[in-house]
Amino acid sequence: MGKPKVAFYWCASCGGCEEAVIDLAEDILTVVDAVDIVFWPVAMDFKKKDVQAMDDGAIAVSFINGAVRTDEQVEMVELLRKKSGLIVAFGACAHIGGIPGLANFSNSKEILNTLYRDLDTVDNKEGVIPQTRTKVKSGEVTLPRFHDTVKTLDQVIDVDYYLPGCAPPPDLIMGAITAILKGELPTKGSVLAPEKSLCDSCRLNKTKPEKLTMKEIKRPHEIKIDPDLCFLAQGLICLGPATRGGCGERCINANMPCRGCFGPVGNVVDHGAKILSSIASILGMEDEETVPEEEVDKLLDGIVDPGGLFYMYSLPSSLLKRKKLD
Ligand code: SF4
Ligand code: SF4
Repeated sequence: MGKPKVAFYWCASCGGCEEAVIDLAEDILTVVDAVDIVFWPVAMDFKKKDVQAMDDGAIAVSFINGAVRTDEQVEMVELLRKKSGLIVAFGACAHIGGIPGLANFSNSKEILNTLYRDLDTVDNKEGVIPQTRTKVKSGEVTLPRFHDTVKTLDQVIDVDYYLPGCAPPPDLIMGAITAILKGELPTKGSVLAPEKSLCDSCRLNKTKPEKLTMKEIKRPHEIKIDPDLCFLAQGLICLGPATRGGCGERCINANMPCRGCFGPVGNVVDHGAKILSSIASILGMEDEETVPEEEVDKLLDGIVDPGGLFYMYSLPSSLLKRKKLD
């Protein structure tokens, strides 16, 4: 029996998850030694027809990163599902929608108009926007249809495991690959990361006051951040209390509050709503009845873009999913 076949594929993503595989450094040699990479468009010259020619289930595991929003992406993830024993949603965009998922506050028409017609730097007198079929002298060129809604991978195909993060850190990637190779995987549907919140492992947790009250909300660029004090105690919104740990506190160690790329812990259905309720419980408004309205407004005005902040990574997987379409 040959080595297990592995595929990597990307959909709507920035390419950071592909970089994360490269970031395995010398461990990538262990991976390449243990598996046979049969499809990895960003790095190797395989074609769709190579995958189509494989037997169903021939690929042991496909790691798919990115959210899904075009016909081509739907076609490719459906093909990989058919050809793979296991599908791992790799990274925040495949897992919970990620940054591309913020486009669900808009729709395809608005996005194409902005990009191809409205921006000051656009020179497009005829107002042409990309079409799925365009006649040219030599025939017809086609583009995949650009959908209104960004979807998580499991909203399109059945997913076996999730590797969270923007991007997943090398230790979790290696842990997942090792578990797959040894056949030591947890229950189907598991997120391959700790079942604890980020605060549990954060070095600043000990500086978080027992009873925390936010009297004012500040944004990171507005203050000189103390690197040794919990961000919430400094009036900065940090999504650590409602976010799954396991990233190595990358943002915290870079002196920036967490923005939630690992998604929620456990069975939380709506990451943004969970964060919202955590933050609401510590806003200094317990005696709401007696606090003057203008003070309440001033406090809430500190949250400049609530949708973008609380759902920065998770809008497509939330109960809201998207802004209502016309
Ligand atoms: S709220 Fe943020 S800074 Fe404070 S302990 Fe939790 S993760 Fe760390
Ligand atoms: S601190 Fe938060 S946003 Fe930053 S990498 Fe970790 S989970 Fe993601």
